[in-house]
Amino acid sequence: MISHNGRSGKLAVSIRGDQVYVSLNELAGFLNLRYYENHEKKKTVLYLNNGEIKLSAYNSFCVINNDEVTQMPAVTFWQNKVIYVPVKYFIPVINKQTGWAVKYEGMQTAFLPTAWSSNDSAAAAVNLKETGNNLLGVAYEKKKNGLLISITTNKNFASTDLSVWRNKNWLYVTVSGGRISDDFAGAVKKLEQLSLIGKALVFRHKASVQISLQLNEEIDGQEVVYDSNSGAIQLILRTPTPNETGNHKTNHDGLNKDKWKIDKIVIDAGHGGKDPGAIGKNKTKEKDITLSIALKLGDLLKKNGMMKVDYTRTTDEFISLKKRTQTANAMNAKLFISIHCNASKNRKSQGFETFFLSPSRDDEARSVAALENEAIQFEDDKNVYGDINDEKFILASMMQSVFVRESEELAAMIQQGLSKKINLRNRGVSQAPFYVLMGASMPSVLVEVGFISNKTEEKYLLTEKAQQDIAEGILNGILQFVKSNP
Ligand SMILES: [Zn+2]
Repeated sequence: MISHNGRSGKLAVSIRGDQVYVSLNELAGFLNLRYYENHEKKKTVLYLNNGEIKLSAYNSFCVINNDEVTQMPAVTFWQNKVIYVPVKYFIPVINKQTGWAVKYEGMQTAFLPTAWSSNDSAAAAVNLKETGNNLLGVAYEKKKNGLLISITTNKNFASTDLSVWRNKNWLYVTVSGGRISDDFAGAVKKLEQLSLIGKALVFRHKASVQISLQLNEEIDGQEVVYDSNSGAIQLILRTPTPNETGNHKTNHDGLNKDKWKIDKIVIDAGHGGKDPGAIGKNKTKEKDITLSIALKLGDLLKKNGMMKVDYTRTTDEFISLKKRTQTANAMNAKLFISIHCNASKNRKSQGFETFFLSPSRDDEARSVAALENEAIQFEDDKNVYGDINDEKFILASMMQSVFVRESEELAAMIQQGLSKKINLRNRGVSQAPFYVLMGASMPSVLVEVGFISNKTEEKYLLTEKAQQDIAEGILNGILQFVKSNP
């Protein structure tokens, strides 16, 4: 479905690699734009009411009014004498030139990370929609254990569109794809009437809206979700409940410095339940190895006593990727470690590797993330994840950049800890877009402890000794990190 100026229609798509393309002619037809095609030179000029955009086949450049050039992150292609454009990158170019608000709303069918395989498909349709402002108003509700701020919307937001992070006594909420009128800032300003909130500010960016809230009081945690029932973005600020205040430190000397101490870790054993993870030649299931190592690591950390330990799972149960970081956020964990075993078609691939979240362009790292992200096939609501290739995802993960430095440092220390304990090949630290690390409000890493697809490593990972050594290696990395981040 597409709509523009109130009209609706459908555009066929073609998928190349991880991009969704539409025919430029069809798009022009829909938008009532004239165009001129030069089949020999494989060029098309699109005439806007206030200028023109020239496109060439197999080229990522849009030449605007013959002098300005914009580059899209993907190239066009040529098929049946028509230029096909990567729709999500080309729509913003049109909008920028025309001042329109044509909206690419993703594919009608779920568009999952399997799109890495280069299959063509004309079956799906692209949703394009003309929309105006989509963040409409702000309401709040005081709850016994916190504050619920609702932002009413007329658009469905994915979890990857939303992020919240806290730095000292400021809370930053980012809505990727959010658009507001001037009235919206006034509505947000009203939050300043609340005793919990100091300043309430709104920043309008090109592709997002950021709401910054200054907190007058300590909070226990924060979360932002899109509630499809009410059609609202909900920001939940948890405050200490009255019966908890007894053991809650009330240090109003700025916000409690202890709040930022690394006093809690959540250990995430990858996969579980109906999701076995990777399976080795001898039928070893990744989910069993990860759980065993996670529990051993937890025991070691508990024995060490430096921080509280929690798990996303302690039994063979299925937990969605989103739920894992939500658990860590809800527990106000200061570190999040997800444990996995790697797998590769190449049976010789070997070694251990630690990842932190980033919109990586490195193919090898991306393929590890793609493999781990496949876990969402077991989930009921796959749409909450959005498209990992989408710039929104990249934006959302960038929003976590406040933790990137720490996450990278933690990853490096875990690699070092492991290299001193186990004899497998050290594959180093990499960055890749893992769903399971998305939305974590703390430094977070994913450890691939070895290749279950490698016969030797599969056998090794099954041994009690290996699992213990790996747990100790990770422990030493964590302790090193804590030491250098007092
Ligand atoms: Zn895994």
